[in-house]
Amino acid sequence: MSPNPSHALLPTPAADLDAATVREMLRRAGGQHYPRWAARVQATGYCLHPIHLHRRHGLIAADRLTIRCGNRRAAVCISCSRLYAGDTWQLVHAGILGGRHNIPDTVTDHPQVFLTLTAPSFGPVHPSEHRTWAGQPRHPDTYDYRGHVLFAWWAPTLWQRFTMRLRRLLTAQLRALGVPKDAVRLSFLKVHENQARLIPHYHAVIRLDRPEHHGNDCGSQVFPIGSSDLAALAVEAARAINLPIPDQSMPDGLRELRFGPQIDARPLDASITQPQRRKIAGYLAKYVTKSVTDAGISPRPISPAACDDPTIAAQVSPHVLQIWRTLRDLADQQPDDYAAMTRWLHTLGYRGHVTTKSRRYSTTLGHLRQIRALWRQQHTSTDNPEEHNDNSGESACDPWEFAGAGHLTNGDYQLTLAAAHRHLEQLWARRENAWPSGGPP
Ligand SMILES: [Zn+2]
Repeated sequence: MSPNPSHALLPTPAADLDAATVREMLRRAGGQHYPRWAARVQATGYCLHPIHLHRRHGLIAADRLTIRCGNRRAAVCISCSRLYAGDTWQLVHAGILGGRHNIPDTVTDHPQVFLTLTAPSFGPVHPSEHRTWAGQPRHPDTYDYRGHVLFAWWAPTLWQRFTMRLRRLLTAQLRALGVPKDAVRLSFLKVHENQARLIPHYHAVIRLDRPEHHGNDCGSQVFPIGSSDLAALAVEAARAINLPIPDQSMPDGLRELRFGPQIDARPLDASITQPQRRKIAGYLAKYVTKSVTDAGISPRPISPAACDDPTIAAQVSPHVLQIWRTLRDLADQQPDDYAAMTRWLHTLGYRGHVTTKSRRYSTTLGHLRQIRALWRQQHTSTDNPEEHNDNSGESACDPWEFAGAGHLTNGDYQLTLAAAHRHLEQLWARRENAWPSGGPP
């Protein structure tokens, strides 16, 4: 079943509200139930697609409960995605600076590298300062769209090859130094972001740990390899990767994919201050919620028919449209290799995760969710039944049942969206200025 192309686009921006929506907003804001409604919106964290649950008692009575949608994509729910970004921030922060979530603060003595891997050029594009045309090809007719989408498609494999190669280079280096190869362990956290030209690039923090890292970390022991050496190895590994992939437009049916020549590997040695380290954690967390929706593309799958739908074509850039068409054509031309591409139009051909990390890099998102649930239980007053019940589903005698999702009217949605924006601005401002030692967001 193919998704409806009319669902492909994002909600109408607030500036274009229609008269019916404005009436709904006024009716809500002026209605006698407004305080109760507003309290519920606040209690569900300004979620834009709240989930409604209910639970029966006998034949008539029922409990009702509204919970967050929990979606990590900003285009679906800016409120819930921020929660995810906040968790990612904690995860990166703990990994770079230590001192939280059972990561000792001696982690700052470990060799670390902040790495950025980009795609190669597939043709000249307009500079990012250019408002309307930033990242769009200067010469769409000669831009290598095929190479572009193939890079996006294979980027997760390139990253995997990179980590394998880096581990191998590290082992060789240790052997050359006469150090046993299990003297250090490589851990990393990587985040995917779309560049202005709408092709993936990766930011990662790579760190060396001692094998006993999570037990008692012995801070006095010197690492056989420093941050600068690790940076050099990362660059060497990234340059060495060359992935042959099927491409029938090539004479021998194969194309060789590699990362672009601009590889940035910044050693995070003792000269990098705490505020600079915090800033790096901040970047990485923000990338997480910046999905392809910056280009006006749906977070949900898009039907290949959208490529030829003039209504949809009018709402995305010619660059996006050409990327969609290239994905669709490749799926048609090489179905054995790329039939699945039509299912990834909405991500512009990228199939990977937004973040990945090696097992021991830092704490986990699941662990952070547990802490937050506990914190919320302890800090929630009984005046907010919805919020209080948020985590009680498992222990309740009757199971909660799904009763619906979303807001009652578009007016309610728009009011919640506006409140969510105000709330987020305050939160980001606070977080960027200083990180308090307090509890979870
Ligand atoms: Zn939500």
